[in-house]
Amino acid sequence: MASVANPSGGSPLTFFLASGNAHKVGELQALARASGRRIDIRSAREVGGMPDVVEDTGTFIGNARKKARALLPLLPAGAWALADDSGVCVDALGGAPGVESAYYAGPQADPAANLARLVTEMRLVPAAQRGAQFRCVLVALGPGGEECLGEGACTGRLLFEPKGGAGFGYDPLFVPDGYALSYAELGDDVKNQISHRARAWAALVRALGG
Ligand code: IMP
Repeated sequence: MASVANPSGGSPLTFFLASGNAHKVGELQALARASGRRIDIRSAREVGGMPDVVEDTGTFIGNARKKARALLPLLPAGAWALADDSGVCVDALGGAPGVESAYYAGPQADPAANLARLVTEMRLVPAAQRGAQFRCVLVALGPGGEECLGEGACTGRLLFEPKGGAGFGYDPLFVPDGYALSYAELGDDVKNQISHRARAWAALVRALGG
């Protein structure tokens, strides 16, 4: 993919995140700070909130593009729209909930209900067959029609019961490879070193020319 900007030089880039999820905003702000790039991540709340988007494309990249395209027209001149579509793909469930992670327990379900359904679906799956991966696709759309992508994954396994109080969503159930604790027990600092989102962010920065 062609480089469209140099995040480490020139004017800072301003990205507005096409999401109502404050945890995603916080993680991406921490990742941007840690990468030392001149990139400012702001929330869609600052421009009136994220418009409703039906996430029906069936792919992470399609849904991310849809969210970024919905936000871009609402942004101040020169700003970029950034969208994150992500989810957990479970081997024993044929990759589910995957792109449907946000709606696993139904269209109006909250994160606790989604987590509870995953615990239930996996309750009879033995320890050796509990492999899973988190996946994240980031799409950045620039004011001049530029598009940059970053994809990342983090493989691991699912616990039988949620553990830990940090993070969000399915974090309490997922233990990344090489660790004995869940994302929610490891906390944000460790998660941001190894997560699917951290890897997608690194790939996006490379695509931007950083
Ligand atoms: P999205 O906002 O449509 O991308 O939905 C993402 C879904 O996957 C939500 O249910 C999240 O809880 C879940 N998810 C995505 N990333 C993470 C993560 O880093 N930790 C825990 N759950 C996540």
